[in-house]
Amino acid sequence: MKLSTKCVQAGYTPKNGEPRVLPIIQSTTFKYESSEQMGNLFDLKESGYFYTRLANPTCDAVANKIAALEGGVGAMLTSSGQAASFYSVFNICSAGDHVVAAATIYGGTFNLFSVTMKKLGIEFTFIHPDDDEDTINKAFRPNTKAMFAESVSNPALIVLDIEKFARIAHKNGVPLIIDNTFPTPINLRPLEFGADIVVHSTTKYMDGHACALGGVVVDGGTFDWESHADKFSGLTTPDDSYHGITYTKTFGRSAYITKCVVQLMRDLGSMQSPQNAFLLNLGLETLHLRMPRHIENATAVAKFLEGNKNVAWINYPGLPSSKYYALANKYMPNGTCGVICFGVKGGREAATKFMDNLKLAAVVTHVADARTCVLHPASTTHRQLSDSQLIDAGVSPDLIRLSVGIEDKEDIIADIEQALNLCNVK
Ligand SMILES: *Cc1c(COP(=O)(O)O)cnc(C)c1O
Repeated sequence: MKLSTKCVQAGYTPKNGEPRVLPIIQSTTFKYESSEQMGNLFDLKESGYFYTRLANPTCDAVANKIAALEGGVGAMLTSSGQAASFYSVFNICSAGDHVVAAATIYGGTFNLFSVTMKKLGIEFTFIHPDDDEDTINKAFRPNTKAMFAESVSNPALIVLDIEKFARIAHKNGVPLIIDNTFPTPINLRPLEFGADIVVHSTTKYMDGHACALGGVVVDGGTFDWESHADKFSGLTTPDDSYHGITYTKTFGRSAYITKCVVQLMRDLGSMQSPQNAFLLNLGLETLHLRMPRHIENATAVAKFLEGNKNVAWINYPGLPSSKYYALANKYMPNGTCGVICFGVKGGREAATKFMDNLKLAAVVTHVADARTCVLHPASTTHRQLSDSQLIDAGVSPDLIRLSVGIEDKEDIIADIEQALNLCNVK
């Protein structure tokens, strides 16, 4: 199946007489004829549903669709993108371990890693994705267990050289985890370029309508845990909580995602609700139609902003003037995403005035949905970061993040134009 067909059809194939539309299985529990049958499920001797914290048919269908879109062997839905990022790392790290991550990641992920996971004894070293291989290599330690970065960073729109990152990660014997939220698998499939695990905040383009919070972890099935068995003992030695099952031996290429579900989701429980998975699936059914429109509109808006006298600077990887144009073309020939960042002349005051004067574009804490919206990260999503952390993340104090929707591009540009005309009027 091609990507478009997968968006519409993958994950759910009804049998004779079953509902054509993916049903919402709104049930916490599932019935069995005997306790022995259910016991076998608990011991992972048989597969089947018994409790929605571990698995639910609606969620599984949607997870399988996303796994198909990314080209992975399996996936797990989570209640938010934050939960997906946490699980993706915590599945292979414990107290005393270390992770190398890009400093340019989403503010929420940066806090999760640098503050909360630090309290769990997991330490992170942050590097800049544009640094050369030698510099990044030096960040690795004997106890490093993973490398984490965003394919297109939120909000600075730094395009990652995925092959470079995969090379560095593999040379150091660890998997590369990529947050692919902004491009979505329609524009980029990181597993094809050497990444091992992909995560998403499905809250963004995948849902696309700003209805349902959610996340997903996708396992590429590519990383050879056994050849680094001492590093990843959680996968390669018996799990006492399942009578001594060894994930790599029992589940092969699906070892990582199976452990993530049956151990982490069992114990920590941040399931996506079946209702949210249903809404996410509706979004996925049109993802292949929406993404090209987001890019068409964002490209037109970016060209307009580039020529405007009130605009101080702009970064959109689809513009030839962008530092990331060549990388974007290599990895995402069909375009990156609908998000643009730019600064207006007159600094913070003018930026606030610009945003307050917008009529069609709403000021909201959101990005990447059908409606055009705008945000000032330094005073909202990234406000916990210090000035130097902001600079490391590529977020200048005047940066405006504009998420271009799928309305008519002439209406969007007209709205931006009138607000820009007012931003320096005293
Ligand atoms: C929004 C976002 C997250 C966090 O996702 P939530 O669904 O809000 O928890 C993680 N990564 C990126 C790139 C994001 O844009």
